[in-house]
Amino acid sequence: MIQFSPLHQESTCQARTGRLTTLHGIVETPVFMPVGTLGPVKGISPDELQSCGFGLMLSNSYHLYLRPGHQLIADMGGLHQFAGWSGAILTDSGGFQMVSLSDLRHITDEGVTFKSHLNGSMHQLTPERCMDIQMALGSDIMMVLDECPTHPCTFEQAREAVRRSTQWARQCKEAAQHCDQALFGIVQGGLDADLRRWAAQALVKIGFDGYALGGLSLGEDKLAMMAMIEATIPELPQDRPRYLMGVGLPEDLVEAVVRGIDMFDCVIPSRHGRTGWLFTTTVRVMIKNAQYIRDESPIDDQCSCPVCQKYSRAYLRHLFVSNEMLGVRLNTIHNLWYYGRLMKQLREAIQEDRVIAFREHFYNTREASPRSTAYVEKVSVGLTGRNGRSQKEQEL
Ligand SMILES: [Zn+2]
Repeated sequence: MIQFSPLHQESTCQARTGRLTTLHGIVETPVFMPVGTLGPVKGISPDELQSCGFGLMLSNSYHLYLRPGHQLIADMGGLHQFAGWSGAILTDSGGFQMVSLSDLRHITDEGVTFKSHLNGSMHQLTPERCMDIQMALGSDIMMVLDECPTHPCTFEQAREAVRRSTQWARQCKEAAQHCDQALFGIVQGGLDADLRRWAAQALVKIGFDGYALGGLSLGEDKLAMMAMIEATIPELPQDRPRYLMGVGLPEDLVEAVVRGIDMFDCVIPSRHGRTGWLFTTTVRVMIKNAQYIRDESPIDDQCSCPVCQKYSRAYLRHLFVSNEMLGVRLNTIHNLWYYGRLMKQLREAIQEDRVIAFREHFYNTREASPRSTAYVEKVSVGLTGRNGRSQKEQEL
């Protein structure tokens, strides 16, 4: 089982630090979880992932269930042993992939029937089976099966998904009651604040080890996403971790941390590494661009990752345009390191009660782009002003 202890609550906003104790190590929050879709983060060994500062990763139940099969993994000693990962693992329910990857699926109150994207075979996932799969994988944290409506959806669709997800969450809790793995509930509700609040209250009544916010970052307005976080957080118990699923870009993480989120996962750092987008303190670098042909500087001169210590932008560009697989690996390591460092900086800032000042610094050091400026102007209105006072206080 896991244990979560909130450590420091910022006085000017909802940001907080905490400690998540698992059977596979202690994790400081707020934390970012890299995504190991098929076991590993693509191209990266467990040792490399650990050296980037990560002790908790996410694995996709859907992919592992279809191949090599959860039973095989259980027979091989569980996912930690099978994948050679000594840190903690959170497994998702697979529900999201069934909807996003399968071109044929059918959802009823019983569960989800879907067609494998690998070989076309038909499968049914019920809440009980979802628990069986994650228990066989042996993750530290399991997620309940939920219905994630597509975006945009009508209020009726969102309400129906909440009703069904709440029922499934109850069944998952029942099915996992004798299991020593932690189980998180997932708050759905589309972009309706009242529905989100209702869903959160219903899940808290059932009682889970942590609570996730699902169905966000699906293309909705960023301000709407932040409003859903602000509506949900007050409904969740202080002594349980809060996890924002599938989010996001560095600025999303900063904004969500300020609003009280403890955990994140996203494919962005690894996927961007594979497509040549590299995060830096000041700008986002597309490494294949001709401007880097003779650039001797590291990707980010403020980054202490092994890639920035050793390689130039020119060399990384050469690897990338030559399709050399080392290039993709090095890009991924740098991006993961960037995310790990950002979370560490956020934790330190919260600990010293200066996360709002950190947010200011974070935006000020980035090269202004119309997109990021618009984003900041939008999301900074509301919870806290730029100087740390609430909007209301500033108006008074
Ligand atoms: Zn670096």
